[in-house]
Amino acid sequence: MRLSSHGLGLCVTCRQPVRWSITAAGKRQALNPDPDERGNTVAFCDGLGVWRSRRPTTELPQAAHERLFMPHAATCPNQRAVPEHRLPAGVVSLAARRRAKRARR
Ligand SMILES: [Zn+2]
Repeated sequence: MRLSSHGLGLCVTCRQPVRWSITAAGKRQALNPDPDERGNTVAFCDGLGVWRSRRPTTELPQAAHERLFMPHAATCPNQRAVPEHRLPAGVVSLAARRRAKRARR
């Protein structure tokens, strides 16, 4: 299935295609362009052609009109080039998580 081309752009660090969305907090978040069932973010294209993304919760699980996406930051090969403090709220830096895991050993 082909999704709307709304919001498609390029990652500023790796130049891979991304789908820009606006989070519930009003921040821009790059998603990988195609839905991914391993993703942790749901998004839908609103009536104005804007992709709205959020993290599903127990209270508000994925709705029928939402698709599951992988945040681009989770797979970006140049992720280290993006300062972690610039990651959108709710996106956990995998690099930071790996570092935390190592530190606990
Ligand atoms: Zn990238």
